[in-house]
Amino acid sequence: MANRRDFLKAVPAAAGAAALIMQGVPGRALGMSDLAVDPDGNYLLQALPYDYAALEPHIDEQTMRLHHGKHHLGYVNGLNNALGKLKEAREKKDYSLIKHYSREAAFHGSGHLLHALFWQNMSPNGGGEPQGELAQALAKGFISFADFRDQFTAAAIQVEGSGWAVLVYEPVGQKLVVLQAEKHQNLTQWGAVPLLVVDVWEHAYYLKYQNRRGDFVKAFFNVINWSDVAQRFAKAKSEL
Ligand code: MN
Repeated sequence: MANRRDFLKAVPAAAGAAALIMQGVPGRALGMSDLAVDPDGNYLLQALPYDYAALEPHIDEQTMRLHHGKHHLGYVNGLNNALGKLKEAREKKDYSLIKHYSREAAFHGSGHLLHALFWQNMSPNGGGEPQGELAQALAKGFISFADFRDQFTAAAIQVEGSGWAVLVYEPVGQKLVVLQAEKHQNLTQWGAVPLLVVDVWEHAYYLKYQNRRGDFVKAFFNVINWSDVAQRFAKAKSEL
């Protein structure tokens, strides 16, 4: 078990603030974005919305303590470190390690966002079946709630690696879909809302630009619909 000194050692960026929150009143329900960052923009480990022992006997207290206080904290620290290194790269205009720190930001960012969502997805008063619109959408997408549960369970049992089963809302087809995140960094920061994307797989530019991907990205900046991006940004901020 962690003593206080070990814990503080593990939180170099935001020791005081994170420690304060860790010692906060258990049982207070936090939203996804409550106390999410300190005034400098460093991510914080949020308190669980219930006591460590609250999910007993289904999930044991010791697992919850380690999972939240050690594993999740590691993602928070890793994310802050990666973002700090990317800031340094911008300041020095040295992007030689962009692949490494983008991967680190994706790995630790996904870890942080997924765990934050995971804690909120559980409750001592949980279980049963959903009601209302969600129940209807699950029945429509998966035949019945039992079929959804079977598919979600199979996805969770069979996923490899740093794996998750994930129920997502896919906004183009307006469908609920069960996905496996085999390596959670491969879909970058799960839970983040995409605002602006550029396809750089070769089919997107090879006819005109061949191997000059940089020229394609430069050209892309001439056609970005910034009002679309701004609308997506406003919508994401107001709805999440
Ligand atoms: Mn985990």
